Amino acid sequence: MSRVLIIGAGGVGGVVATKCAAVPEVFTDIVLASRKIEKCEMIQRRINRPIGIEKVDADDLSELVDLVEEVSPDLIINAALPYQDLTIMEACLATGVDYLDTANYEPRDEARFCYRWQWDYHRRFQKRGIMALLGCGFDPGVTNIFCAYAQKHVFDEIDGIEIMDCNGGDHGRPFATNFNPEINIREVTAPGRYYEDGRWIEVDPLSVSKTFDFPGIGQREMRLMYHEELESLAKNIPGVRRLKFWMTFSPEYLTHLRVLQNVGLTRIDPVVYEGREIVPLKFLKALLPEPASLGKSYEGKTCIGCLIEGKGKKDAGAKKYYIYNLCDHAKAYQEVGAQAVHYTTGVPAMIGAMLIATGVWSGEGVFNVEEFDPDPFMELLPRYGLPWTEEFLE
Ligand code: NDP
Repeated sequence: MSRVLIIGAGGVGGVVATKCAAVPEVFTDIVLASRKIEKCEMIQRRINRPIGIEKVDADDLSELVDLVEEVSPDLIINAALPYQDLTIMEACLATGVDYLDTANYEPRDEARFCYRWQWDYHRRFQKRGIMALLGCGFDPGVTNIFCAYAQKHVFDEIDGIEIMDCNGGDHGRPFATNFNPEINIREVTAPGRYYEDGRWIEVDPLSVSKTFDFPGIGQREMRLMYHEELESLAKNIPGVRRLKFWMTFSPEYLTHLRVLQNVGLTRIDPVVYEGREIVPLKFLKALLPEPASLGKSYEGKTCIGCLIEGKGKKDAGAKKYYIYNLCDHAKAYQEVGAQAVHYTTGVPAMIGAMLIATGVWSGEGVFNVEEFDPDPFMELLPRYGLPWTEEFLE
């Protein structure tokens, strides 16, 4: 029995609201709040169960606290943007409500991906007797849980983890991003970074590549990137020596991105245009298709998983182990009106919320998902639309 407040009525927020609404025995009351009430109304119309909607600016702490006091939820699911993470966490502290998100905090003026800002809230959450669950989407999220599962059931010691994210789908547009364009482009244009023997090694953005044969999709080239789960896995997987994150991009995407970067349209610092300041990347976002609008014509699948190496357990172990999920864009759209990237993010957020609501995962402080028992989460994934497959390779 839980009352949940979802903040952010975009692609991910729509999936979270729809999936929570389908589990009335856990989520007895749902309120969706966002900057534009029209977006909440659109999602409300799609859901075949009454949910409340509210307008809120989640950058405004006092407005947010008023809303939380009025709604009085047990948990807030933050499906807005990384810029709002800290304000929403402050509102949770002010009102004594648990918190969950899918992306680490980012300041607007600096594309730096780092959990430190949110980890620094640990003591205050502990003192207030509430919990924050960070990064409960797919990557970060399920990828971290795959690692915790492998650590519990397959390996005595994990040496290396490679997270591989492949979107083998086609939306038919020359250039579009699969989730919020501003956040996505900040991420892919940042320097790549990987972890080796206790050190972080930085490389030029998207400059390192290799190919992988993705199940159900085929051979794809992927690029090395920095992704926030590497930071928490380096801290939470004892003894891990190597951590890398890879993502596939079509040649057409990379060509467009290079041109946009070369002409300065991916800049996040303000420039003066006709007497007023504009941020080129925000202007570009206004021109690009809304990721939520891509779902209708999206075909193909995503395949996201972890290739893990180490010293296997005596009986059920392996030296090399691959665990992944395949998600079909068209099937996701049929079920919830969203493409697979939003679906694979929203479903884990709902499952994390369910585990908190039912007391299966509990704690006081700020946590990453791999700090909890992975088994109940892994059990719920296929039940709510994200089946997983494991391969013992060596
Ligand atoms: P969208 O831009 O589609 O949705 C974000 C929503 O938040 C929009 O409705 C937006 O309102 C609303 N919002 C923005 N600012 C505020 C504010 N100040 N107050 C209230 N509402 C606000 O993004 P996505 O759904 O694509 O992504 C959502 C989040 O999911 C992002 O943080 C992203 O990084 C994360 N993500 C995580 C993944 C994972 O696997 N872990 C994968 C993909 C995404 P408006 O419509 O007015 O702009």
